[in-house]
Amino acid sequence: MYGKIKDHLKAELEAIENAGLYKKERIIVSPQKADIKVNTGQDVLNFCANNYLGLSNHPRLIEAAKNALDTHGYGMSSVRFICGTQDLHKELERRIADYFGTEDTILYAACFDANGGVFEPLLTSEDAIISDTLNHASIIDGVRLCKAHRFRYESADMEDLEDQLKVAQTHRYRIIVTDGVFSMDGHVAPMDKICELAEQYDALVMVDECHSAGVVGETGKGVSELYNLKGKIDIITGTLGKAFGGAIGGFTTGRKEIIDMLRQRSRPYLFSNSIPPSVAAAGIEVFKMLEESNDLHDKLVNNTKYFKEKMIAAGFDIKPSESAILAVMLYDAKLSQDFAAKLLEEGIYVIGFYYPVVPKEQARIRVQISAGHEKEHLDKAVTAFTKVGKELGVLK
Ligand SMILES: *Cc1c(COP(=O)(O)O)cnc(C)c1O
Repeated sequence: MYGKIKDHLKAELEAIENAGLYKKERIIVSPQKADIKVNTGQDVLNFCANNYLGLSNHPRLIEAAKNALDTHGYGMSSVRFICGTQDLHKELERRIADYFGTEDTILYAACFDANGGVFEPLLTSEDAIISDTLNHASIIDGVRLCKAHRFRYESADMEDLEDQLKVAQTHRYRIIVTDGVFSMDGHVAPMDKICELAEQYDALVMVDECHSAGVVGETGKGVSELYNLKGKIDIITGTLGKAFGGAIGGFTTGRKEIIDMLRQRSRPYLFSNSIPPSVAAAGIEVFKMLEESNDLHDKLVNNTKYFKEKMIAAGFDIKPSESAILAVMLYDAKLSQDFAAKLLEEGIYVIGFYYPVVPKEQARIRVQISAGHEKEHLDKAVTAFTKVGKELGVLK
């Protein structure tokens, strides 16, 4: 039975490999942090994790998780509404709402699920979703699972958004959906203008804060803090898998009735397991830490500023960014791959991205800064970038 599709899959896989798009996994044999060991024995500095606040291996989170294993056990063996809700899940939901200044929160196994399960319970074929073209795959999938009409606007293009909103006026309800920070460039969505247009054209606003929460804004509370829009964004989705500890888990936070309806009808919530107690407990610890002090966020901001200034001074072309993502532009696809490979030899682990992940002739190396990086790590990276940049003729 398997024969025919096997041959087909083998041919497809070969085509992927020949196009240079085959994804291989690099195997890390240490905890996730700034300096990691890979299975070749090499020690490298990690500049491609979403470990923005450096919490992935933080002793307080490890301790909180260990304690919860003793007090609350290993797993829930249930979805939330049957017998999968502990006091820890409720406390984490409340802390997330307090952090964002929202009314209520619902946890998911991942933000992929939060985005997958947010539209269908709220909107029908009478309604319209107006989505930024650069939105994350999970938003695109969530939109597909819902019968509402789909409109797309050119990324962060407010004229185009307004045009789409005009066309969508005939629908019952409208929602504008955007990533807070776009992950390939590091730029922030123009939330102030988006909210103004939402007001003018009677639309709801949803933002995915996966790369912005913990990172942008005075104290890192995301785009609503950056643009002073606390309480004005109807729906925020986010992850516990990036700045907030890096393990697993997602959430939707926002208006009370919306969250309530998601608890009734959101399929990834109703039909998929609760996050483990240890993960919930470590999540609670994250928000306690962020309430106690802004040190980690301050360090992330300072590290990002320091690295960016040094790289620009060295002569690199870096896309405008207000986040901890810095796109070092190389434009040429092959150059981006050669550059990343040479950096790895220098002990710097980064990824080069090229078409179709980014537009044609826009190949780049994406650097992600962390509060876990020390000055010496940043200096080492700048030195390596400069050396390779000269070798490959990117710098003079
Ligand atoms: C990472 C990411 C997700 C998925 O989050 P998970 O919790 O890992 O599923 C969703 N949206 C955006 C914008 C992301 O960057």
